[in-house]
Amino acid sequence: MSKALICSCEDVTVTDIRHALSRGYCDVESVKRYTGFGTGMCQGKSCQAAVAALIAREGPLQPPGILPFTPRPPLYPTELSLFASVPVNPAEPPVGGVPQELGTFPPALRPTAPLPQKAKVVIIGGGVMGLALAYNLSLRGETDVVVLERGYLCAGASGRNGGGVRMQWGTPSNIELAKRSIDLMKQFARDLGINIWLRQGGYLFMAKTEAVARRLERNVALHNKHGVPTRIITADAAREIVPGLTLKGVLAASFNPEDGVIFPWAFLWGYAQHCLKKGMKVETFTNVTGFEISGGQVRKVRTDRGDIACDTVVLAAGAWSPEIARLAEVELPNEPHRHEILSTEPLKPFVGPLVSVLDSGLYFSQSMRGEIVGGMGDPKEPAGLNMGSTLRFVARFSEALLEQLPQVGHVKVLRQWAGCYDVTPDNNPVLGRTPGLDNLLQMSGFVGHGFMMAPAVAERMAQWMITGEHDELFHRFNLRRFTSGHLEREDMIIG
Ligand SMILES: Cc1cc2nc3c(=O)[nH]c(=O)nc-3n(C[C@H](O)[C@H](O)[C@H](O)COP(=O)(O)OP(=O)(O)OC[C@H]3O[C@@H](n4cnc5c(N)ncnc54)[C@H](O)[C@@H]3O)c2cc1C
Repeated sequence: MSKALICSCEDVTVTDIRHALSRGYCDVESVKRYTGFGTGMCQGKSCQAAVAALIAREGPLQPPGILPFTPRPPLYPTELSLFASVPVNPAEPPVGGVPQELGTFPPALRPTAPLPQKAKVVIIGGGVMGLALAYNLSLRGETDVVVLERGYLCAGASGRNGGGVRMQWGTPSNIELAKRSIDLMKQFARDLGINIWLRQGGYLFMAKTEAVARRLERNVALHNKHGVPTRIITADAAREIVPGLTLKGVLAASFNPEDGVIFPWAFLWGYAQHCLKKGMKVETFTNVTGFEISGGQVRKVRTDRGDIACDTVVLAAGAWSPEIARLAEVELPNEPHRHEILSTEPLKPFVGPLVSVLDSGLYFSQSMRGEIVGGMGDPKEPAGLNMGSTLRFVARFSEALLEQLPQVGHVKVLRQWAGCYDVTPDNNPVLGRTPGLDNLLQMSGFVGHGFMMAPAVAERMAQWMITGEHDELFHRFNLRRFTSGHLEREDMIIG
């Protein structure tokens, strides 16, 4: 065992890199996420070449597949107060952005082993939805399952989100799903042998307009009816929960101490490792390119590594679901919208809850490593599969954050990135059978809250698929509702 440090910012050793390789995380992006190398102050400037050399020497990939990880702005750690001073024209849409990351992965990363020729269930998308579903199918005895993922695990929204989990919702369906998910998260380590760092420090919502204040008040009653202990709190109480929080312009605040924050990547690793142990296949760097369809059924899923015959296909490709559905001539109403997010240098823990100004979509929390992690929606963001980062975001976010938490002005931003929300017209998911293509099941449209919904939705979806028992969820949120007009709008959306 070698204790030699290879990333001194994050104390990552040669043994840690070897451990990642032994778990099957062999490309640089995956090794970075699994070990944390390159995520500290220097952002990989001093260690990336050494890690890449070790991966090339000891892992299965050849040099064309040993690529540097996506660089994240800013180039150097930069104070939030400096970004907050950048002028922003609120009327202008965000332009430019680096890098665009449209999700092309070089052929050198493709596994060389052949794909299975058939499987009972093919799941498209190795994000939290697809993997949680595969896991839940295995618990019910179905292991003839292949998960197809175009990139590395964590390449999609599941690897790019804020890790917030909350029961404060505006509809009974979402409150109940979130409650169940949080219960499942509490036992994740026991069930799957990996720590997902659930910290129930609460969610503190603030409203700065009358309409949003009324919404918070109305929803508190609904939460309490469903056994969620949300309460409206005073400014003093909010300041006690987060020392130094300013409540400038805040008209109302709600707090549920049982909401919290998790570490998202560990979910994907936990689910994927479980599936592999059960003999299921999780095929990364495998791009779905089309379908063979006859007699109103999908017969085969086409990929850039060959075709797989199947009984059932599940479309769980997040923001990419509409473009994949189109390959089967199915139109989904989902629209991808970029959401940007950033992380600072670590600080001594002082922010217990995830704090959000619901009107502006500002949110921030403190990660288990002490970093302030946060984002903010942009009303000027056009629809599109864009995962680039902009100066406009970091400037808008820093200004809004310092309005609520002025004491962090000198804290430095280490990195920013972006992912896509998978937005539907009523902010609720698309689930269940596809009209006219019965064995294509939909599992997308989770906007900006799919991570916290995944454990509960996947549990019910697996049960429904295996037993065929009626479950109202797959009717209520079926694709048909967009033509019948039976929409149930969720209005507790951040961003
Ligand atoms: C900035 C940001 C912050 C967020 N914050 C939160 C939060 O605090 N709490 C929360 O609950 N949710 C949050 N979300 C939302 C949450 O991350 C998503 O709802 C959730 O991860 C969706 O999971 P998924 O599996 O449906 O999609 P994804 O994780 O996007 O997975 C879909 C996968 O499909 C793959 N794919 C695409 N095309 C193909 C193809 N042709 N072939 C094979 N595979 C393909 C992609 O590579 C991707 O990995 C946030 C999202 C963003 C972007």
